[in-house]
Formats: sequence, structure tokens, C-alpha cells
Amino acid sequence: MSYERIFAAAVGRVRAEGRYRVFADLARKVGRFPSADHRGARGDPREVTIWCSNDYLGMGQHPVVLEAAAAALEQYGAGAGGTRNISGTTHLHVLLEQELAGLHQKEAALVMTSGYVANEAAISTIAKLLPDCVIFSDSLNHASMIAGVRASACEKRIFRHNDLDHLEDMLKAEPRERSKLVIFESVYSMDGDFGPIHAVCDLAERYNAMTFIDEVHAVGMYGATGAGVAERDAAMARVDVVQGTLAKAFGCMGGYIAASRAVIDAVRSFAPGFIFTTSLAPAVVGGALASVQYLKTSTLERLAQQERATTLKRRLAEAGLPVMASPSHIVPILVADPVRCKAATDALMDRHAIYIQPINYPTVPKGTERLRLTPGPLHDDGKMDRLLTALGDVFERLDIKLAA
Ligand SMILES: *Cc1c(COP(=O)(O)O)cnc(C)c1O
Repeated sequence: MSYERIFAAAVGRVRAEGRYRVFADLARKVGRFPSADHRGARGDPREVTIWCSNDYLGMGQHPVVLEAAAAALEQYGAGAGGTRNISGTTHLHVLLEQELAGLHQKEAALVMTSGYVANEAAISTIAKLLPDCVIFSDSLNHASMIAGVRASACEKRIFRHNDLDHLEDMLKAEPRERSKLVIFESVYSMDGDFGPIHAVCDLAERYNAMTFIDEVHAVGMYGATGAGVAERDAAMARVDVVQGTLAKAFGCMGGYIAASRAVIDAVRSFAPGFIFTTSLAPAVVGGALASVQYLKTSTLERLAQQERATTLKRRLAEAGLPVMASPSHIVPILVADPVRCKAATDALMDRHAIYIQPINYPTVPKGTERLRLTPGPLHDDGKMDRLLTALGDVFERLDIKLAA
């Protein structure tokens, strides 16, 4: 048997469906973000503007973060030296977990190697420990939450996205004393809509369920101190477990959960995805700690981000471009065709030195293929002017439908 052929055939199927992914070779430059050097097929690097980064606030190049990361590297060296149990609980880990617990007004927090790992490890461990648990999961939940549900091997019920009646029907159908875990997000990253936190918590209280929220696309950006949408909505105390990332608005790497001391101690003690992997490097933890602390008091970045998102949505609509309704900082533009979506992003790169990732099936449903833009404080008016001109050119060239 030719093993090689099997892999090539599998990738061939992805190609045939138009879903083959090509990664852009980008080198970001400190002080120049959201600009970066792009190396294409033709060789020499060319400066492009990134409009789809999840380093939402530009904290990945912020001097406060870089200085803290550099200081940690100098002081503690490159690696953590082991799993948390062996020698990977550095003093910086302790400080970061205290900071995150405080941010979310919970008793404790647990840092993991990514947001993905935090969701997978925490959801699976919590659900497994609850006797005969049934998980209620929003249909648009992130792949890492689905991985957690699968790994738990618990029964699951998928409720239609943000559909409270559907969730209530499903909760109602279970015996009151049966363990229940409701998992949802505060900002859904492809449509940019919010999860109804208070309403979900009302149902959870009524039907005796635990709640777990993914605030990955909200931490650092919403709420008075950047704790997320639950802070903005004054709902922090109502959610049992909050999960976040240090990799998006905080500009570094790593994930975490914050919850009661009992929940954190249980995940710490039982989750293989936490226990059996080397902990984050000191430079990463030091940078993240500085970023969380900085965004707790500085509102400049999140206010500028909101202003940029509002302005971009208004200007796209004025230009007749099919911007999709989104209440958050995420700005999707409808293309509604996978081939044109990819062609549009290629043309933006080749003709206009603008980098935007095409969002196609299976990330979004067929027929809703889109460009997903994430404007931030560093996208100035000049960059926005050039983006508008470029989108106008590309939509006309490719004959993409404008707004109705
Ligand atoms: C990016 C993302 C994650 C994973 O976070 P990482 O820190 O990148 O691993 C989890 N949930 C959602 C909704 C995400 O978009």
C-alpha cells in the first residue's frame, strides 16, 4: 500500500472543493503594525497592510509588553523548564493567575498553553466530573469548545445559535437534578454578534445548570477594565466559568479559565491538557501579564478600536459595499461565493498590497462566504481610504454583488 498516495488524495479532495489553504508568508515589524513584509512567489518582500489580525489592539508590539517580555527573558531564560507540576510554575505564572482572577472577579484562575487548550481541557474535565452531565452547546461554538464536548464523552444537545427558546426547551426536557453545563461565547467571531449573557444565566438558574463562557474575542476590548462583555453587561458574577485568551487583544500567547477555587483546583488536578505539557515560557507570561495590567487601566486602545470599527462600517455602507450587520468590532463583508471570495483576497494582495483572509465554508455556511475585517487603533484614515478604494476596484473587477 502506498501511504503517501492516501495523504495526497485527501488533500486533493480539499483542493477540489476549493478549500485548500495557502498561508501568507508575513513578517510583522515592530513600530509598523498593521504593516508587514509579505514574501510572495516573486521573491522580494513587499510591505502590505494587514486588515484581519486578531492582535486587535496592536498590543503585540506595545512597548510596555515588549519591555516586560524582554525583562522576563533576561531574568528567567527562554523556557519554563517543565510542566506546571515539575518546574513550570514560575513566579510570573502565579502573578498572572492572580491578575486574571482579579480581572474577572473570580476566586482563582488557571493559565494554559492556548485558548484552544483551555476550552478543550476545562470543558471536558468539568463535564466529566459532573455525574451524568449533559452539555448544552450553541451551534456556532468554536472548534475548541466542540473538542471539549467530544473529549468529555458526555451527552450533548446543540441549541440553535442564540436561540433562547430552543435552549429552554432542551433544558426543560431534562430532570432538574441531572447535571447540566451550558457553553456559549460572548462574541461570535465570524458574524460579530454577542451572546445574550443575562438571558442564558436566567435559564441556567431556572433549570439548575452551570454556565461556561468563551470571552476570547472580548477580553481586553469590552468592559471598563477589559474583562469582556460580561463586565460590560454587569454579568460577571452570574457566569460560573469564564475562558479567555492571551493571544488576541492581549497580543501574546496562552489561554486561561477563571472560576471558583473549587473548579480551578479540579481542572488543575484532572485535566491532561493542563497537566502533561510544558508551561508557557517566562517571556510570554511576562508580556501577557503586562498587557492585562496595562489594558485594565488604559481605555484608549479599546475606545479607538470601537471608533475605527464604527467608522469603517459607516464608510463601507456609504460606498455601497455589502457590509454585514455586526454590533461588535468585527466587520464582515459579504461575497457569497467561494471562488470570488478567494479571488477578491488575491486581488487585494496583488493589486493593492492589502492582506485579508478569505472566509469560506466550512468556517461559515455555503453562500455566506465573506471577508472578515478587524479594524484597530492603528488603522489610520489614510489606510482606511486605501482600503475603500481597493475594495471598490476589486468588487467591480470581479463583479461581486454590492449592497441591496
Ligand atoms: C481563537 C479562538 C480560541 C482559541 O484561542 P487560542 O488562544 O488562539 O488558542 C478559542 N475560542 C474562540 C472563539 C476563538 O476564536
